[in-house]
Amino acid sequence: MNRYADIVLPLAQPAYTYAVPDGLDIREGDAVAVQLGFRRIYTGIVWRMHDQRPDFPHIKPILRRLYGHPLVDARQRALWEWMAGYYMCTEGEVMRFALPQLIKPSGDTEEELLQRAYSPRTEAYVALAPDLLHEDCLHETMERLERRAPRQYAALLEIATADGDNRIATSEVPRRLLAADSATLTALRKKGFISIAHRERNVERGTARFQLPILSAAQRQCLDRIRKCFNEGSRTLLLHGITGSGKTEIYMHLMVETLAQENDVLLLVPEIAMTTQLIARLERIFGSRVTAYHSKLPLARRAESYLRLSRCTGGELVVGTRSALFLPLRKLRLIVVDEEHDAGYKQSDSQPRYNARDTAAVMARIYDAHTVLGSATPSLESYANALSGKYALATLAERYGDARLPHVIVSDTLRAVRRNERTAHFNALLLEHIEQALARGEQVMLFQNRRGFAPYVKCRNCGWTPRCPHCNVTLVYHKREERLQCHYCGHTESVPEHCPSCGAGKLLPAGFGTEKVEEELAKCLPQARIERLDRDTATSERACNEIISRFENGQSDILIGTQMITKGFDFARVSLVGILNADNLLLSPDFRAAERAFQLMMQVAGRAGRRDAAGEVIIQTGEPDHPVIRQVAAGDYEAMARTQLSERRLFSYPPYARLIRLTLRHRDREFLYEASAALAKALRGRFGRRAMGPVAPSVDRVRETYITEFLLKIETGASAAHARQVLRETVRTTLNDTAFKSVILSYDVDPQ
Ligand code: ADP
Ligand code: ZN
Ligand code: ZN
Repeated sequence: MNRYADIVLPLAQPAYTYAVPDGLDIREGDAVAVQLGFRRIYTGIVWRMHDQRPDFPHIKPILRRLYGHPLVDARQRALWEWMAGYYMCTEGEVMRFALPQLIKPSGDTEEELLQRAYSPRTEAYVALAPDLLHEDCLHETMERLERRAPRQYAALLEIATADGDNRIATSEVPRRLLAADSATLTALRKKGFISIAHRERNVERGTARFQLPILSAAQRQCLDRIRKCFNEGSRTLLLHGITGSGKTEIYMHLMVETLAQENDVLLLVPEIAMTTQLIARLERIFGSRVTAYHSKLPLARRAESYLRLSRCTGGELVVGTRSALFLPLRKLRLIVVDEEHDAGYKQSDSQPRYNARDTAAVMARIYDAHTVLGSATPSLESYANALSGKYALATLAERYGDARLPHVIVSDTLRAVRRNERTAHFNALLLEHIEQALARGEQVMLFQNRRGFAPYVKCRNCGWTPRCPHCNVTLVYHKREERLQCHYCGHTESVPEHCPSCGAGKLLPAGFGTEKVEEELAKCLPQARIERLDRDTATSERACNEIISRFENGQSDILIGTQMITKGFDFARVSLVGILNADNLLLSPDFRAAERAFQLMMQVAGRAGRRDAAGEVIIQTGEPDHPVIRQVAAGDYEAMARTQLSERRLFSYPPYARLIRLTLRHRDREFLYEASAALAKALRGRFGRRAMGPVAPSVDRVRETYITEFLLKIETGASAAHARQVLRETVRTTLNDTAFKSVILSYDVDPQ
């Protein structure tokens, strides 16, 4: 008899054991309501049923079962378990993040729980009364109505012909698709001519036409290779296809095969902005099968999608960001991770700190599915996996159609300065080419990487810069509101009249943000219509779309932007792309700096001249001979990968070692440093030189809390599972079980 059940609750705790009351029919994966502590009632997931009585006296009973079917199937549970083990968190933390908020209500009383419980949106469905399905009967009724009640006649006609094909409609019609008004429908119902039922909303499948694009020879070859690899047993495949080669078209062909067999497809993209564009493209082919899923959807939509999919029998296509991989796709057979190198796949701010790309590869095994990782500039981790044969590899090395690769020009900033050929942030060469492009009626995109170079204010007299009182960072200057803001805690203040440090100087804007670039470019090119796309102007999805569509329609000439403009956009009239300062990409103090710089510059370059004419890319840099600049100019991914991989091997960085970052936080700085010193000693004892730290991160105080970090390097080949276990054990004996237990700890496995 299974009289006990281990229940996972949405907390950073292991599963709790509850008693299964007699007569309660539950299975593993069911959602149940349980009480924790004195009052609080939570939604939990039945993880394991067993008959081992735990050794504590008061075992609480499960209160009741929620929903008519399991919320989490066996494969999802296997996934959660893998994540908890690998990313060093609990299944409960995975649950907290994986299940939409509305379907796991909690409350202080049963009533509260009930109140918060999610009930799906219902919709009215209209159908003809069974009598009227006979043609004679229908005609007779219609004739009578035609003269006496023309509106009812029109409504009945609309319902009877809803199926098309000149036949009487036998199926239900969603109310919202009918033109008839409510009074008319009510009248028809009262006369017994129609029935109206309120039910949970169905997603109409429609008859998808599946009109696929015809592939070019190169694309067909690539698709054949992918099929062959999968047929020969590969689970995960890296699709390395240059920008504009048509990776999306290949995905579509793979998807259609899976959907035709009524299996599910999951397409992941790194950013919400990209889902909108891609969905429009996919809906043209797959119609209403496409479901969007990401964290900016209304809570009810997310809950609805989750519940609907958990009852679906297959044939679903979900497009979403990293959180979509927690959806209950019962027949998942194909996962596509587009732009797999993108750092947006990694969740860094809270547990589970997972990388959706790597998780998707693990899911291929769990789901007996296939995973395609697509990119023009693959992450070195995935590329190394492809080289070693762990992943299969398919390459697509030419652009689709007549599109040619852009011509890359490297413009030496220091030389421009020496020759007096630089105005503000622009070398004369760039300005000249912009003017020429505009004169030809073409458009220009300018890219400014802002990370770490946000605008700030500085005293002209003594060099003092205002900092956040709660965090150890400079405040960012927002010109429009004339205010200073902390990007870590949100603190804002006005710009002081005089420098509080020397009491004399004036505070003037400094730094190198997109806003500044826009202002200065407008001075250089007063007649050009310039727009800017970054986090300050794209305050809402609508604002963002408006800027983009103005550019698309030719209502603006130059678009200046941050990373935001590099992704997925395909503007036909852009012939010139400028990278204003490649140096802050190259010189960032991160072992991935060179890889990132290459990826970003290639992506930016890919925006130039995508249709028939080859575009131009101008890179402004003070380091024109830097190997990465040369590799970008040559479009040589393999050269970049070779150089970087050998450096990574030499210094033991991923993919040749795994990193685990451990972060310690406390409000008392001395106390934190003492705890860190104790942990350092213990870690060194167990891991030797593989344990590095403690270090204070570049922002070492946020919201009055101090921060220190450790980094653990585990060589590939050594058992990572064992290392994690030793790490946990060391942390437990030096921090959790000691006077230092108030220190807050967090793990980040494979940090970005
Ligand atoms: P990638 O994602 O590899 O950068 P896309 O899939 O966006 O490339 O394709 C680039 C452009 O070429 C798009 O405008 C796309 O519609 C077009 N294209 C690619 N392959 C085909 C094809 N087989 N038929 C029609 N258009 C195609
Ligand atoms: Zn001053
Ligand atoms: Zn702050």
